[in-house]
Amino acid sequence: MGNGQDKAGRGAHPQRILILGGTTEASALAAGLAPLAAHFAPTLSLAGRTARPRPLPVPTRIGGFGGAQGLAEYLLAEGIGQVVDATHPFAARISRNAAEACAAADVPLLAIRRPAWDRQPRDDWTEVDDMAGAAAALGEMPRNVFLTIGRQEVSAFLAAPQHRYFVRSIEPAGVALPQLQAIAARGPFDRAAETRFLREAGIAVMVTKNSGGAATYAKIEAARDLGLPVVVVRRPAVPAVPWVADAQAALERLRQGIV
Ligand code: NAP
Repeated sequence: MGNGQDKAGRGAHPQRILILGGTTEASALAAGLAPLAAHFAPTLSLAGRTARPRPLPVPTRIGGFGGAQGLAEYLLAEGIGQVVDATHPFAARISRNAAEACAAADVPLLAIRRPAWDRQPRDDWTEVDDMAGAAAALGEMPRNVFLTIGRQEVSAFLAAPQHRYFVRSIEPAGVALPQLQAIAARGPFDRAAETRFLREAGIAVMVTKNSGGAATYAKIEAARDLGLPVVVVRRPAVPAVPWVADAQAALERLRQGIV
């Protein structure tokens, strides 16, 4: 670990930690590290997709690094002693870059990999590999579709313009689907409100990523309650690196210096 520090990075200087974020886990880890300033100096990195991210209790940097090589250069230039990949399960490129950059710069990497949702007995799921597969799975007949996939991949549904889409995202998708109703909202969402929305909008099918976690699970429960079909996009592959399931476990590992 160097610099006269012990295994947990405690020593003359607080250990510099880069948290790759954009998730509730990243924010929770940042909040957990903030009071430990004598030991840890975290920086939270956001891609910059959201114009007004929630305020956070640690220094934040915004924007891409310029691929794995750019990230490796950043780690060395900033004297980062630990990287935590707390990005979203569908943000596969930055996770690959993190694994590659940490190997190149010889910096330890810990990932927070939130468990995927499992299909429950009353869930009516069709699982697909990507958004193109999700658009195809909606079928030929026009339907009211609830797209709860964020805004970046809404254009995949231009392939199925016969449907009426209710698109929920933090910021507008900006995609010219002929029948699109934008719903601006940021989670967490509760089950009763989700059920009410699905009913009132006359939703016939919902499309979601298998994001996992509690913050957006209410929509899955609401669809189950109403017997609605759900098209679930499976997760992309991510590199095999040491991982934990949540922010609390990551905090424990960092405190114990066992990453
Ligand atoms: P991605 O496809 O894996 O990454 C694309 C590029 O964005 C990366 O190559 C990197 O640019 C930059 N980037 C991504 N995350 C970054 C971070 N935390 N800090 C700095 N640069 C980052 O990622 P994405 O799916 O576009 O997701 C972008 C962000 O939104 C991530 O922070 C992710 O956690 C969050 N998010 C994603 C989803 C989702 O469904 N994909 C959902 C919720 C939140 P360079 O190569 O130039 O470094």
